[in-house]
Amino acid sequence: MNEKLESELKLELEKLDEQNLLWNPKTLNGPSCSTCEVGGKRVVMLCSNNYLGLANHEALKKAAIAAIEKYGAGSGSVRPIAGTMDLHIELEALLAKFKHSEDCLYYNSGFTANSGAIPALLRSGDAVISDELNHGSIIDGVRLTKAERHIYKHCDMSSLEEKLKEVKAKNPNRILIITDGVFSMDGDIAPLDKIADLAEEFDAVTYVDDAHGDGVLGDHGRGIVNHFKLEGRVDFEMGTFSKAFGTMGGLIATSKINKEFLLNKSRTWLLTGSHPPATVAASIAAIKLLMESDELVKRLWSNTTYFKKRLKELGFDTGRSETPITPVMTYDSGAARKMSTRLYEEGVYALPIVFPMVAKDAARIRTMITAEHTQEELDFAIEKIEKVGKELGLIK
Ligand SMILES: *Cc1c(COP(=O)(O)O)cnc(C)c1O
Repeated sequence: MNEKLESELKLELEKLDEQNLLWNPKTLNGPSCSTCEVGGKRVVMLCSNNYLGLANHEALKKAAIAAIEKYGAGSGSVRPIAGTMDLHIELEALLAKFKHSEDCLYYNSGFTANSGAIPALLRSGDAVISDELNHGSIIDGVRLTKAERHIYKHCDMSSLEEKLKEVKAKNPNRILIITDGVFSMDGDIAPLDKIADLAEEFDAVTYVDDAHGDGVLGDHGRGIVNHFKLEGRVDFEMGTFSKAFGTMGGLIATSKINKEFLLNKSRTWLLTGSHPPATVAASIAAIKLLMESDELVKRLWSNTTYFKKRLKELGFDTGRSETPITPVMTYDSGAARKMSTRLYEEGVYALPIVFPMVAKDAARIRTMITAEHTQEELDFAIEKIEKVGKELGLIK
């Protein structure tokens, strides 16, 4: 081991520790469920992205087991060489149907979809205009391009229009507008209808990252494009299987030509092993389940509405959230950390979100509601949030 490197890294870790930014993740001792065992303690889970409870759903588990029996444990290769099984093709075709898009491309993860597709689409002479609160995987994807980079104010359409005018004046070959669909820290929704209007006015290309909208927004959880009825007007609708869909994988719903180009040019699609059959089969089962019934999506929203309403009645500030992502504002970072620790002691698991993930005075506990939470679990969580909120002087 190189001692100089290790001593430098140790110093950096100590700095992170001083700033309270060191990760020390708690461990799940079983499946991810609405009540589960975390760090050896039974808690009501309020910080998983398992919005529909699909991560531990019987239909998905059965499909995964059957696929292992038929196809084995691994895929054997990268997609372009020998790692495309009929399962991968079936999933992409099913997704296109679900999304009402011409076609769909399945990546290993949402992160690799963004970090592979964005640099494939942009060259020097192009411009990208990105919402200031976009996800880190978009930021990394944009960093890999030689295009000119611009940032617009969060969900601010006059700021976007201003940037479009500024960029257009330089006559770039291609302009890409890129935004999260649902923003993961605040749970607000991008005004994608207005973005699509502006894109058409300025002849720009649109790309939305709907990681937190898949399975949550739209009819049967079809996502943000369906939510705003924008089918055919958004060039790239990217999403993930790792949240509401309960498994793992990235997706991009787009046209046939765009897909053909992306799969030939995305290094994160070409150069990495494809998903094991179990994951793909479980993903197919998840989409089939959603196409057959919107019961889970409806339950997710009724749980969300109830939980938010109760928190507001108690006097908590839940910020600008419009989705199951529900911040409980503490403003102060220390209070957010303390609240998370106390909630865990009381049997509720929710993590603090502090600077630099959010502004210094905008610390919060981020709670996430799922379809799986029972009335008892929601009431238990609310009771504990009320108790700890009073201890910390957040409410009276
Ligand atoms: C979670 C998330 C991703 C990454 O998706 P994975 O499939 O888990 O890699 C990308 N973008 C946003 C907005 C996310 O919230």
